[in-house]
Amino acid sequence: MTDFIKKAKENFTDLFYTVKCPYCRNVIDKNKYACEKCAESFPEFAIINFAVGGYKCVSPLPYDGNFASAVKRFKFYNQGVYAKQFAMLMSERIAKEYGDKKFDIITCVPMHKNALKIRKYNQSELLARQCAEILKIPYADTLNKIKKNKAQHGIKGKERAKNVKGVYKAVDKEYIKGKNILIIDDIITTGNTLGECARILDKAECKNICCATICAVTYR
Ligand SMILES: [Zn+2]
Repeated sequence: MTDFIKKAKENFTDLFYTVKCPYCRNVIDKNKYACEKCAESFPEFAIINFAVGGYKCVSPLPYDGNFASAVKRFKFYNQGVYAKQFAMLMSERIAKEYGDKKFDIITCVPMHKNALKIRKYNQSELLARQCAEILKIPYADTLNKIKKNKAQHGIKGKERAKNVKGVYKAVDKEYIKGKNILIIDDIITTGNTLGECARILDKAECKNICCATICAVTYR
């Protein structure tokens, strides 16, 4: 395709394609991750947590107010389109917090195939694929969810650790071996889910694991 045709096609698509701020739903420029007003409300620094097992997790936003509402629309109300705007913000914080680390793969927390059939998309995979594109790091599926468990947000305390135990399996141990991996999920709460994913990747002898999510639950 010549540059002229490519540009014409892009302009044509732009006519019918508007991007909305995930937090207030006003129309924004497609290269922005939020409207100016919402962007002003973002925390200046990423929230740092540690998933179970001690794996660092970077999250730009707290899971409350408009941020939580946006993530709920993204996850439960078919707004997978927010992935791009979320990933722009995540990538900026990932680059800042993990600047010295070179990731070989970006991967995501997988969904069980039955749950995927109902939702039609894995919100964590959408985030991971968009971050991979922005950060120019290959995306790969490294884990399968082999057992269906209860949703983590529906249960409390020690039960959460038990609930995720043994539900994930490595896709290809040979591929994972020796790699620096960034695991992406939508929300970190107690860090049991990311911790369990990291444990499986560690068992497959990957080199190093870091995590990132769009939101972090700051109250527990
Ligand atoms: Zn906004």
